[in-house]
Amino acid sequence: MIKSFKIQPSLLIVDDSIRDMETLVSALAEYRLFTATNSLQALTIAVNVQPDLILLSIRLPEMDGYETCRQLKQQIDTQHIPVIFVTELNNEEHETRGFSVGAVDYITKPINPNIVRARVTAQLQLKAHCDRLALTADTDMLTGIPNRRHFETVVQNEWNRALRYDKPLSLIMVDVDHFKRYNDHYGHAAGDKCLKAIANSFVSTIRRASDMVARLGGEEFVCLLPEVPQEQAINLAEQILLSIRDLGIAHADSPVADHVTVSLGLATLNLNQHTTWQNLLQQADVALYQAKHEGRNRLIVDQQLS
Ligand code: GH3
Ligand code: MG
Ligand code: MG
Repeated sequence: MIKSFKIQPSLLIVDDSIRDMETLVSALAEYRLFTATNSLQALTIAVNVQPDLILLSIRLPEMDGYETCRQLKQQIDTQHIPVIFVTELNNEEHETRGFSVGAVDYITKPINPNIVRARVTAQLQLKAHCDRLALTADTDMLTGIPNRRHFETVVQNEWNRALRYDKPLSLIMVDVDHFKRYNDHYGHAAGDKCLKAIANSFVSTIRRASDMVARLGGEEFVCLLPEVPQEQAINLAEQILLSIRDLGIAHADSPVADHVTVSLGLATLNLNQHTTWQNLLQQADVALYQAKHEGRNRLIVDQQLS
């Protein structure tokens, strides 16, 4: 998961020693702090809170810090969170093992508040830098919405989730109608402005946190709708058509309408038909092609479901 810049970084401290926990909490009071005294608690908080950094003791009841770190690094939701071991195990062998399970630093007890603060600051700066890079790599520069690269990561995760929990998954492909003519008539800069307005409109129509609108390239977009069955997806697609009409962007050279319009192709996961998310996307694309063929400014639903 990628988070945009946050003013106050959050830290998760995992330690079953009350005294050490108190020392760390007071040393790091400037941050938003979450605490856990065992590994299971820590893993749950890490997933739910998405802290910027985890300070992890090694000697913990039930599951030790090495195993906790290993699990954090295995899970897709937590693997990007840096882990610093804070431990009384002060020898080369333990330290090497700490780095080998994925930690970024290793601090030995007794805790020196100034050293802890300095090393936490260094890791948080690195994390903020990585977050900014990841956000840039996943964002379409023109519209500010997720790009194809980001979409491909998210759709794969949502696909896996839909199969694992037997949930619906719908996908809408959107393509702007006669956009070449728009550019030719109004100029490329106006075309860019139009694409931004269209992207904004999609984002406000598709509001749920789990939904995603991405720019696949050119004047082509995709809406990914996890846990949305076909009927509900049809409603959303119809809202998209209306909201683009309501934008009222003049398109004097369009044979379809006097304003900018879009065509939509919708497909919903059907296990008899789709074996990969690429199949689903292709099916939505076939429906989109048909929408173009039938006159544009309309929605076509992949009928192989019914
Ligand atoms: P159709 O209704 O069949 O989709 O026709 P179309 O003209 O929209 O489709 P076509 O694929 O022929 O043309 C797409 C146009 O989109 C051509 C290209 O110049 C324009 N385009 C692609 N990316 C951008 C962009 O970032 N900015 C602008 N202004 N135009 C773009
Ligand atoms: Mg087009
Ligand atoms: Mg196109």
